[in-house]
Amino acid sequence: MEIRHGIPVSPGIVIAEALVLDSEKLRIPQRFVEKGLIESEIGRFKQAVDDSNRTLDTEIARLGEEIEIHARILGVHQDLASDPVLHSEVEQAIRDNSYTAEHALSKVMNRYVRKLQDLKSPILSERVHDLQDVEKLLLSTLLGKRIEGLSNLKDEVVVIAHNLTPAQTAKLDPEMVKGFATDVGGKTSHTAIMGRALGIPAVVGLEDIATAVVGGDLIVIDGYRGVVVIDPDEGQIAEYSARARKMQSLAKRLKSQAKLPAETIDGHRIEVHANIELPSEVKSAVECGASGIGLYRTEFIHLQAPTAGEEVHFENYRSVIESLGGLPLTVRTLDLGGDKLPEGGLEEENPFLGCRSIRWCLANPKPFRAQIRAILRAGLLGPVRLMLPMITSISELDRSLQIIDEVSDELRAEGVEFDENIPIGVMVEVPSLALIASHVAGRVSFLSVGTNDLVQYTLAVDRGNEHVADLYDPMHPAVLHLILQLVRTGQEHSVRVSLCGEMASESIYLPLLVGMGLREISVSPQLIPEVKQVIRSLVDYEVRELSARCLQMSDGEQITRELHHWAVDHFPEVVDRF
Ligand code: PEP
Ligand code: MG
Repeated sequence: MEIRHGIPVSPGIVIAEALVLDSEKLRIPQRFVEKGLIESEIGRFKQAVDDSNRTLDTEIARLGEEIEIHARILGVHQDLASDPVLHSEVEQAIRDNSYTAEHALSKVMNRYVRKLQDLKSPILSERVHDLQDVEKLLLSTLLGKRIEGLSNLKDEVVVIAHNLTPAQTAKLDPEMVKGFATDVGGKTSHTAIMGRALGIPAVVGLEDIATAVVGGDLIVIDGYRGVVVIDPDEGQIAEYSARARKMQSLAKRLKSQAKLPAETIDGHRIEVHANIELPSEVKSAVECGASGIGLYRTEFIHLQAPTAGEEVHFENYRSVIESLGGLPLTVRTLDLGGDKLPEGGLEEENPFLGCRSIRWCLANPKPFRAQIRAILRAGLLGPVRLMLPMITSISELDRSLQIIDEVSDELRAEGVEFDENIPIGVMVEVPSLALIASHVAGRVSFLSVGTNDLVQYTLAVDRGNEHVADLYDPMHPAVLHLILQLVRTGQEHSVRVSLCGEMASESIYLPLLVGMGLREISVSPQLIPEVKQVIRSLVDYEVRELSARCLQMSDGEQITRELHHWAVDHFPEVVDRF
């Protein structure tokens, strides 16, 4: 039994067998053997080659007819794994140096890879990947680890990986994948957000969980407290099972009240909308009591089908609007870049500060214009708003608005009907825009505060980097004062202000946000019942006093402590889980 602590990013508790992805970082536990064991070490290597070849035979037979190209690649792997020169070099490395089979294999393969890389030939560099794949296969066979995939899962598992990209996470099947844990990541990384969207418990930032766990190990993932237990004992299994049952019954109770309005005890109504990544989430968002979709992250349409044009977008929006049955939908234009890399996109040193989001759209007008056409047309099917992400300046906003005007002219000229009065808003995710919000307010219909990025860009802390996760503090007074300024600007200019960052789904922050005057938020669907319940326990004048007190403080930790005490006094049941 082993307990690991990471960053909790998606609530819930699960106990299931591990499926380890990403075996690139296979750990070689022992590098040398005693002289007397050299022959048996060579025997182990030969056995691993035979076993790997059998695995490849089975895979090739399975893929052969359907996916011939993959089968051919595996054929190349088989040739490499059977190469007599490779075998004799590994054998020699074991004999000459008393290396273990794993270490000898790694040394020899490394030498090959370096030689190929030195040739700097694009064709031969393809072989580098093949060599690395073969090394991975042989190593995992030697180490007794399975190389596993996510297709055709027959049992429920938790996925353990070094990293999962948001696009990989989007493909996890929540029927079979009951949770995940990764070495890297932060609380508001898009992988974490996707975990919440799927409603499966997740812990990230565990540093080396992918090498500590072997496929098939029993694992507990506690997504409330950020704990992962490897090989739990009977007592722990009983304890976590009991906690899981308690949490499930609380969640059931909250869900039964999810349709009640989110209104403070003294009658102030807060609109609670949902953030979605995929159209399939709309149904559960409505069941969880969302009064609309406040943020549709459309970039997953592009990531899943990079050539998706106007019609694919339009059909996608149509299906979302139909499932919403008259509730409002805010479509955010493509927010690619950062950790959501478009195919063939730039390799950037610093992608979150690079050609991301609206910058990518302005640099790639074709997909941007196609998406705008689709949104404008979809505006006739229901209440739709168009939202531009990561705007940093007025000229960038004006350029974007100009494109929307041009696209509208184009549709008009073609006689295509569209919503002439679609509300257009911006996300405020960069301090530069927050500080000039009064200039922005005159140009748009609404502002939506994206705190996931606003915190990152205000505090200069990468939202997805576990090494600086403790510096990523949404309660930093600088962040809170920017939000307050935005709320006030909205009130002065009669422009709606909502908040759609993950911060709004943290129960302990809600009294502060409501007290600051926010009347609209958007959160992950699964968290809506709890968020609404917390709002129903608040009294507006009390939380106004609380937020005035917090905004006087100079330190985020002090504010968090104050809010924690408040939560313990006012909604202990919710806080108790963390
Ligand atoms: C945000 O930055 O707060 C936001 C909601 O956008 P995303 O998380 O998709 O970057
Ligand atoms: Mg953002």
